[in-house]
This record gives sequence, structure tokens and C-alpha cells, in this order.
Amino acid sequence: MITHTQVLILGAGPAGLAAALYAARADLNPLVLTGPELGGQVSITYMVENYPGFPEGVEGPALVQRFKEQAEKFGARLVLDTAVAVDFSQRPFRVQATKTTYTADTVIVATGATAKTLGVAGEDELVGMGVSYCATCDGHFFKGMDIVVVGGGDSALEEALFLTRYANTVTIIHRRDQLRAGPLLQKRAREHPKIRFLLDTVVTEILGEDMVEGVRLRHVPSGETRDHPTAGVFIFIGYHPNTDLFTGQLALDERGYIVTDKFTRTSVPGVFAAGEVADSRYRQVITSAGMGAAAAMEVVHFLSG
Ligand code: NAP
Repeated sequence: MITHTQVLILGAGPAGLAAALYAARADLNPLVLTGPELGGQVSITYMVENYPGFPEGVEGPALVQRFKEQAEKFGARLVLDTAVAVDFSQRPFRVQATKTTYTADTVIVATGATAKTLGVAGEDELVGMGVSYCATCDGHFFKGMDIVVVGGGDSALEEALFLTRYANTVTIIHRRDQLRAGPLLQKRAREHPKIRFLLDTVVTEILGEDMVEGVRLRHVPSGETRDHPTAGVFIFIGYHPNTDLFTGQLALDERGYIVTDKFTRTSVPGVFAAGEVADSRYRQVITSAGMGAAAAMEVVHFLSG
């Protein structure tokens, strides 16, 4: 079966759902393929404290629910399906999903980004057995335990602070002697009684048979190695964009992000991109939602042009 739509939105994070809201309000009856996870990364964020309009903060899943309700209220159609192949070589564009084939006059790509892995021995084998990329999902398994967080950016420190709710201690392991995170998060983390730092240190292996028992560390300046016991390894070392599907279809930069102009236009007229799939710099709910709104406004412009 082939379903045709004027506007097909791939992804249902802040960018996709904001695009859906704007396209729906423009009477375009957009169709959104949610992908595997409604809400994307926000749905696994415990608390969003910097989305305007919520001075007390808002839980990630609750914010996603509100985005969804608002888009649907104006006529957006959300489908729990995932695109597996695209053909943007001619219009209408063709998108093969797991259940249905779609054709579309315009496409907004909002497929987001996924957490990077360390690529060390033991990591793949112990995912879900102490190795995690999501503090909100897995933090409660580590009540009263000693755990480590790998990374030195905003994500690592923010999630480490969150994990102090459960863990006895949280040791942040960072490969350099300077953290990348902003000053406010650094201050909060440094002042937290449960947080410790191991700087200039890399994880070379995650140890354990069926469950994580420790990490093998190398102190970078001295080259010394030692084993550090831990029950959990939370890895926050950045993200890579979900663009495998678009290789050869859209221009991507050297890191795989979709190249857009300042109007969210990709290399293919009629295909737009919004949110983290095209933005490695800001990565905020507000900026992704803003890009989604802009992409939908560009779709309106494109279809009436
Ligand atoms: P990031 O800023 O790219 O930081 C990644 C961290 O992981 C860096 O400290 C990096 O080390 C380290 N790293 C990267 N690859 C590694 C590897 N293979 N082994 C060990 N360490 C590795 O990523 P992020 O923290 O996810 O943040 C991404 C963007 O989102 C940033 O712009 C950030 O400001 C934003 N963000 C903002 C908030 C907020 O405002 N509250 C929260 C989360 C994220 P180096 O420092 O040595 O490169």
C-alpha cells in the first residue's frame, strides 16, 4: 500500500513535533513517522529546566506529551513507524517504512542523534548489565552503589548530578585535565558531596562477566593502568546524527550531519532538515523546536511557490 501526503515528517522529537504543529496549523495535514522513540532524546530526559514557559522545569516525557497533543489537536497524524529507505531523486519523494510506503511532496527530516559509544572491550557485551547511555532510564538500578560517568561535557555533568539521587558516589572520568562543560554545571558538580573526578584518565576496558564489576583505567600523562571497581558505567561522550538513511540522498558534512542553509533547506529542493540531525552546536529542546517550526514554514513557502 502507498500513502501519499503533502508533508511527511521523519522523527517525533521536539523538531519533528514542532514542525508537525506548524504544518498542521497551515492546513497541510502532515504525517509524522515517529521512528522507534516518540519524543527522541527528550523522552529519556528526567527534567528539562531551560524550556521557556516552565519556570519550575518540566519532565521530558510530559513535555513530549504536550508537544504531541498540541500537534494532533491541529490535525497532525502520528504513525508509529520507522523509515528504512528513502528516494529523494524525484518528486513525489518516496519513503519506505517498516509497515507502509509513503510518497510525499515535501519531507522534513528530524531524525535526531544517538549517543556515541566508547568502543572499548566489554562495552557492547555489558549494555543493560551496568553499561548505560541513559541516566533517566537506568539510574534507579544503582541505588546506594558506586558508579562512574564517562565524559567531560554538559551532558556528562548534568547526568552525573542526576545520578547522585540514587548512587552512593559518582566518579566522573574525563580524558583531559579541563572539563568541557559550562561553568554553572562545573560549579554544581564540584560542590556536590557525592561527585568525584578522575581527570586525565581514559577507560580502556569495561570489566565483568555477566554484570559490570569495574573499569580498567589509563592515566594519560603517566601511562599507568589500574582497575577501578564500579557497578555502573554511564557514558556521555557526545552524539552522532541519525543520517545513515540519507547517505547518497542528501549532502552530509564530514561528521554525517545534514547540510542545510539558514532556511533549513537541504541539498534537495523540497526536503528540509531540523533539530539535531542538522545541528551539532546547540542541541537544545528550544533550538530544535525552533528549527522544526522554521522548516514547516519553509514547506508552506515551497508548496505555494
Ligand atoms: P560534548 O560537548 O561534545 O562533550 C563530549 C565529552 O565527551 C567531551 O568532554 C569529550 O572530551 C568527551 N569525549 C568524546 N569522545 C570521547 C571518547 N571517545 N572517550 C572519552 N571521552 C570522550 O557533548 P555533550 O556533553 O553531549 O554536549 C553536546 C552539546 O549539547 C553541547 O553543545 C552542550 O553544551 C549541549 N548540552 C547542553 C546542556 C545544557 O545546557 N544543560 C545539557 C546537555 C548538552 P573532550 O572535552 O576532550 O573533547
